Order: sequence, then structure tokens, then C-alpha cells
Amino acid sequence: MKLISLPYNLFFFLTMFVYVFSCQYSQNKNEILLNKKQNILKKMKKTESEWRKSLTDQEYKILREKGTERAFTGQYDGHFEKGVYNCAGCGNQLFESETKYRSGCGWPAFYDAIPGAVEEHKDNSFGMKRIEITCSKCDGHLGHVFNDGPKPTGLRYCINSVSMDFESNNKE
Ligand code: FE
Repeated sequence: MKLISLPYNLFFFLTMFVYVFSCQYSQNKNEILLNKKQNILKKMKKTESEWRKSLTDQEYKILREKGTERAFTGQYDGHFEKGVYNCAGCGNQLFESETKYRSGCGWPAFYDAIPGAVEEHKDNSFGMKRIEITCSKCDGHLGHVFNDGPKPTGLRYCINSVSMDFESNNKE
């Protein structure tokens, strides 16, 4: 009798082990799928005709066609009020005024971005090796980041004024 029950017990434990393991696996799989889904949901997707309707001609040219405003012409180049600079395409918070500084380059410059707000891409256009910066939510073109910024990061986020909307801390 004992000879029969031993393999049966083994079979039972093995079945339980496989069951528990597969539950754990499917739970992990669901978590990964959920994370992927959340990342997809985080992005703002619009068709080109929808972007054309929601942006001005100048915003469309810079945000969606990677244009650049002329140096020293942007409304935020010499702007130093306290507040937050949001994406002009989707409202995503991009830069804090505390990180803005006078770089003299002709465009608004920041030494840091709000964590997770921007994405970096290699840009070899116009025979230059640069790092392009886009909004992490709507993928709108913002500008470029360079390694000649001040402390503490040593970075210079050189951003088009047109790509941003300033939100003042003094809401009256
Ligand atoms: Fe955006």
C-alpha cells in the first residue's frame, strides 16, 4: 500500500508546484503587460491633421517638424520669473525656473529637466553630432542638450521658446 501512495504523493506535490509556479509566472507576465500598457497610455498620440488644428503654424513647424526659432527672438530667452515651463503641445511639465540660467546662446537654457519629462535622441542632421530633446508625453521636438552647462549637472538644455508655455508660481 505504501509503495502505491508514495508516487501518488509525489505526483500531488509536483502538480501543486507546477500550479503555484504558473500562477506566479502569469502574475509577473500581467504586471509586465500592465507596465507596457501604462507607458503606451502615458503617450499622447494625435494624427498630423489633429496636431495642425491644435497648434499654431510656428508651434507645428518646431514641435512636429523639428524646426528651430531664430536665436535671440524667443519670448523666454531673457525670461526669469518663478514657475514651470510646460510643453506647448501637451502641457507636460518640462523645466523648473530654478534650473534656468543665462547661457548667452540665444535660446532659453536650463541645466536640468524635470525627471522623466524629456527623452534624448541622437541627431546627426546638418553635419553635427547632437542630442535632440523631445517631450516624453507627445514626442514634440523641444531642442538639444549639450555638455557645456553649469554645475551641478554640466548640461545645457537649449530649448525653443515656441515649444514651451510658461506657468507662473504667482497665480493672481
Ligand atoms: Fe508634449
